Amino acid sequence: MFRKKLIAGNWKMNKTPADGAALAAELVTLIGKLSDVDIVVCPPFTALEAVGRTLDGSIVKLGAQNMHPDASGAFTGEVSAPMLRALFATHVILGHSERRSLFGEKDAFINLKVLSAFKNQLRPILCVGESLAEREAGSTLKVVQTQLEAGLEGVSKEQAASLLVAYEPVWAIGTGKVATSDQAQEVHGFIRGLLTKLFTESVAQRVRILYGGSMKPANAPELLAQKDIDGGLIGGAALEARSFVELVNAAAAAK
Ligand code: PEP
Repeated sequence: MFRKKLIAGNWKMNKTPADGAALAAELVTLIGKLSDVDIVVCPPFTALEAVGRTLDGSIVKLGAQNMHPDASGAFTGEVSAPMLRALFATHVILGHSERRSLFGEKDAFINLKVLSAFKNQLRPILCVGESLAEREAGSTLKVVQTQLEAGLEGVSKEQAASLLVAYEPVWAIGTGKVATSDQAQEVHGFIRGLLTKLFTESVAQRVRILYGGSMKPANAPELLAQKDIDGGLIGGAALEARSFVELVNAAAAAK
């Protein structure tokens, strides 16, 4: 089944509104009207509005890096799905390993966010992945299964069709250590099998599963050539227009 590749940039806690708008403007110029790859950039909350204005009318979509599951209320420092929608965000990264390990997010809380994202017409990019200790203990697939099943509890087949999953081995994020294409494909294929069991074969075939973890222009072509790797969630290489656009071009070439 044909799945359009998707390249998403996770800017993490980088870029002021002015810096973000400048990067977005470069991306729009370099990417032009290329339409055979879906592209999303996820700036920090403070830069969403400025980046969104710059992207307006382009094919590059706007995503957030996190959100709270409730629509409003006494949650100091948090931002909700309706607030993101009001800034024209279309995607949201949920369950990133930095949220899990540094901010104590658990699967049940991430699940509430996933449900809230769907309720508010935001496409969740649900991140799953094992730590180095878990890989070395042989529990990679078990960890990924637990995170995926718990994160998707209560999601309907209709909703799942617009889900994005990112497999991000924690040991490969920001470390320069990339998973081999065989290691990544094994987990991606496993995730697709789980999605078949949780939903249906046709839903599982539609869901795009992104790889994340030190993806760079040099290693992207081999990863993107794997049958169940449908794109990338990019950290470091998304902070500079040229490397991000090279990844977009690698995805276009791999289709
Ligand atoms: C990420 O944080 O989602 C990520 C994949 O980072 P990096 O590309 O820098 O490893």
